[in-house]
Amino acid sequence: MSNGNPYLAHLDSDKSGSYNNGSPFEGMVPRKTTAAQAEALENATHNPFTGKAFSAKYQKILQGRRKLPVHAQRSEFLEMVHSHQFLVLVGETGSGKTTQIPQFLCYDELPHLKGKQIACTQPRRVAAMSVAQRVADEMDVQLGQEVGYNIRFEDNTSPKTFLKYMTDGMLLREAMNDPVLSRYSAVILDEAHERTLNTDILMGLLKEICKRRKDLQVVVMSATLDAGKFQKYFDNAPLLTVPGRTFPVEIYYTPEPERDYLEAAIRTVLQIHVSEPEGDVLVFLTGEEEIEQACRKIEAEGDQLIRSHNAGPLKVVPLYSTLPPQAQQRIFEDAPPARREGGRPGRKIVVSTNIAETSLTIDGIVYVIDPGFAKQKVYNPRIRVESLLVSPISKASAQQRAGRAGRTRPGKAFRLYTEGAFTKELIEQTYPEILRSNLGTVVLQLKKLGIDDLVHFDFMDPPAPETLMRALEMLNYLGALDDDGELTNLGNIMAAFPLDPQLAKMLIESPKYRCSNEMLSIAALLSVPQIFTRPPEARKQADAAKAEFAHNDGDHLTLLNAYHAYKINQEDSRWCWDNFLNQRSLKSADNVRNQLKRVMESNDLDLISTPFEDRHYYTNIRMALAAGFFMQVAHLERSGHYLTVKDNQLVQLHPSGCLDHKPEWILYNEFVLTTRNYIRTCTDIKLDWLLEAAPHYFDLSNFPNCEARRKIERAVNRRDRVEESNKKAKKARR
Ligand code: ADP
Ligand code: MG
Repeated sequence: MSNGNPYLAHLDSDKSGSYNNGSPFEGMVPRKTTAAQAEALENATHNPFTGKAFSAKYQKILQGRRKLPVHAQRSEFLEMVHSHQFLVLVGETGSGKTTQIPQFLCYDELPHLKGKQIACTQPRRVAAMSVAQRVADEMDVQLGQEVGYNIRFEDNTSPKTFLKYMTDGMLLREAMNDPVLSRYSAVILDEAHERTLNTDILMGLLKEICKRRKDLQVVVMSATLDAGKFQKYFDNAPLLTVPGRTFPVEIYYTPEPERDYLEAAIRTVLQIHVSEPEGDVLVFLTGEEEIEQACRKIEAEGDQLIRSHNAGPLKVVPLYSTLPPQAQQRIFEDAPPARREGGRPGRKIVVSTNIAETSLTIDGIVYVIDPGFAKQKVYNPRIRVESLLVSPISKASAQQRAGRAGRTRPGKAFRLYTEGAFTKELIEQTYPEILRSNLGTVVLQLKKLGIDDLVHFDFMDPPAPETLMRALEMLNYLGALDDDGELTNLGNIMAAFPLDPQLAKMLIESPKYRCSNEMLSIAALLSVPQIFTRPPEARKQADAAKAEFAHNDGDHLTLLNAYHAYKINQEDSRWCWDNFLNQRSLKSADNVRNQLKRVMESNDLDLISTPFEDRHYYTNIRMALAAGFFMQVAHLERSGHYLTVKDNQLVQLHPSGCLDHKPEWILYNEFVLTTRNYIRTCTDIKLDWLLEAAPHYFDLSNFPNCEARRKIERAVNRRDRVEESNKKAKKARR
């Protein structure tokens, strides 16, 4: 197969033989390449994959790549994959796993010659995008061509792509349509130690697939320890350990617990800047808002220091997942130079979420500041709430973080907690995500994959039975599974949407309520980062701008109004700016909407709207919301508080909401756990709609005793009486 490349035309694609027709790969036997052969190709004047002359940039990067620790083990790696289907590879962060190993496999598998691809999964979108760009540069090809990436709602690949970085969730999705992953000749599961839900499922799946596909190569890569557990799980796979090339890191603890870790982190940055020798700083914080706030403070106070202490200039760079790709690349820029000759050198300060813990390697970091927290998913099956909570990290995380300081030379890590807290309070390892998640989506996917017996699925760590039961129950209420746990027709369609099952159900039901066009927009808007911006220096103006879009009946309608206004104003960036709307988010909502629309079309779901002049326009939308989210509803008690329906959790409306009144029944998109329980993105709905959309869920034989129950009882009685008298009237007429 030539992949449209004349340089590679007429190659023999028989994988048992060698390629022998004047191509750069002549004499090479797929899956039998030696390191020397591959290196000869890398050293050539022309790129064997594109036929173009290698650029000077390529040559320069190649020199650097050859110095990476994994390079020394290229032969060993190849020998191991030639003799084993599974391989576990453990190497210190920065040793070259993510960027080099997939390339080693490309030169070995020669996937482009047999119409196959190599997948390398990442738990994080940012990592998939950023590493794909880097590897495209390293291979001297254009991103999206030979090397690409695929993340939810963004597929940057082409028919030429043979090396694909992708999120673990995307590969799982592909498996639903291609159960043996036939388009891949090798799959690399990267960052396996993170034990994300999707990676865990993929591991179980790949074990199954490999029984049927002996030609599929699987490499499991990890930054830390516990290799034994992975080896054992993969039928005693061999282990390749890449010795790190790290420098010692001195650890400092605070003598007393810090009351405000954010303030302490900022103070520590500034102290380092005035008192420590040259070297960049990496600060770990928990989320976008906190990071942006820290960056502003460090910049402001840094300016002061330059004046008062004659300190060097600072370059403060944020890093979190919702940052635009261009802005993410700034972490790789150099520290600023001294402002004049002989002046104090500048320093780069990277303020990051735990993306920088293992996913992305930033060279030049000498100082690490670790407050000891990260945002982590937690799930409480009893009250069916999944939430992101700022929680203490594990010892393993703390060690990873500290290690980031020793990449280029000896460094220092400042832990903003006491040594006692480290030894006594931090758990050894972060719990796998599968033990902390709502499994609704995963169970639906597994069912779609034909895995019926979830109890006997080969999980590395099986989820709690209660969590599994909750997921099955939820999917049954949504109609995705029948009472025997079999996937229904509806469930089949739901699985086709790359969305939470409730959102999928909402979309599928929406044609009935004559508002599928609008629901598509709402589903898209709920799948992208917040479209309303609220900069701290202009909160009032931002709130006033948002009020222009506000709908009294709720936040979903407000989102829709803003989206429509964006369209009416021709997606104008100036208009977005003036109205405190995040244009990037709106653009990506547009893109998401298009993709969801295609799923609707391919499942023959009608795209219709109620005319805007019709008084039911907004009501229909609210009814469609209720048809998907009937399990996320709260009831206003006589006391004036809201209790979630069935689970009776006390919740408050999130202050960001637009409702101008307190509806008796309220539907929410998100349960936010902080010091209080909040419900966010809320809409006023009616009990009748709920009873109509999901009678089985509101069935009183399975409903706790509470005010909401009594309201339902009354409503059901009223309905029954009306039906009864209608029947009588009919009879009388006859
Ligand atoms: P690992 O996966 O083992 O943690 P990587 O393969 O991600 O390591 O990175 C190896 C090295 O490649 C890094 O130490 C860094 O020097 C270099 N590197 C990776 N990404 C980039 C980038 N975007 N820009 C510059 N250098 C990079
Ligand atoms: Mg890596």
